[in-house]
Amino acid sequence: MNREPHFPEVSVVIPVYNEQDGLATLFARLYPALDKLGTSYEIVFVNDGSRDQSVAILAEQFRARPDVTRVVLFNGNYGQHMAILAGFEASRGQIMITLDADLQNPPEEIGNLVAKIREGHDYVGSIRRKRKDSVWRTYASKAMNRLREKITNIKITDQGNMLRAYGRNVVDLMNQCAEVNTFVPALAYRFARNPTEIVVEHEERSAGESKYSLYSLIRLNFDLVTGFSLVPLQMFSMLGMLMSFASATLVLVLVVRRLFMGAEAEGVFTLFAIAFFFMGVILFGIGLLGEYVGRIFQQVRARPRYVVQTILQQEAEPVVSLRGNMTVFPTK
Ligand code: UDP
Ligand code: MG
Repeated sequence: MNREPHFPEVSVVIPVYNEQDGLATLFARLYPALDKLGTSYEIVFVNDGSRDQSVAILAEQFRARPDVTRVVLFNGNYGQHMAILAGFEASRGQIMITLDADLQNPPEEIGNLVAKIREGHDYVGSIRRKRKDSVWRTYASKAMNRLREKITNIKITDQGNMLRAYGRNVVDLMNQCAEVNTFVPALAYRFARNPTEIVVEHEERSAGESKYSLYSLIRLNFDLVTGFSLVPLQMFSMLGMLMSFASATLVLVLVVRRLFMGAEAEGVFTLFAIAFFFMGVILFGIGLLGEYVGRIFQQVRARPRYVVQTILQQEAEPVVSLRGNMTVFPTK
């Protein structure tokens, strides 16, 4: 890879959505932690359409440290994973780190991730030593994790944690993807040649509250499962086959009974129960199909995945990106 010599070694990408109360503490810990690494770095903040003071705070930070800070501003809210992908497109480092803005991922761990990449890994996942989230959230995501691992064959021990490192080769491949709904760590895992995981600390949110509702968590898990595997569809055809087989047997039994015992009308409620159960299964199947069809629809429409309003950055050359439709000229 022939990259310009002034490009930094480490790029840190941070999605920001309504984080005004936590940003100051984030800056106070993040910059010293990176300075201590003793290597060249840049921090790319991506504002995901915040409606609070986050943009002003980010712009101010850009003015304070323009040498290592860049800020990508979306025109609306496109979700954490789109924000990270836009950050990747704007980054130039050899080692990419992703981090949450809420300080749940301690910036002091970045050195350990960088060390792993330097050892030759191109994907470093992380496992939270002691998760500081609510009990139900921890339990639900553990269960979902197991199910997802079976279905998609993607080995991510702790899928909810975004403190991860990616090699340039993996990020270049991700930049070529045009997926509308995706899950960054899973996508990266698909492209990684030499993945590994390390254990990291996890803290409580420093300020504000989680941006994920139960609904958006369910959506995210659909992105993970139906976005990376056809197994749910295949399981459904298998289930359909089994059920047709069982119903055919039932029909045979009933025909024989009709011949030998005459007309019968008992057990109507049992029949209802079975019919309703099957109706439920059928509706679920249609919904599942819809998940895939909806994905195809979004992909076929081929609208820009996100719109970048502007990028606050220092140097003179324009950043041209093909996928996100951003041709951005520097503000200075
Ligand atoms: N985030 C974002 N867009 C969104 C939701 C979240 O950029 O639509 C960012 C948010 O600012 C934070 C990170 O994604 O930096 C993780 O969000 P959060 O802490 O709310 O998620 P949780 O830790 O509860 O999973
Ligand atoms: Mg968080």
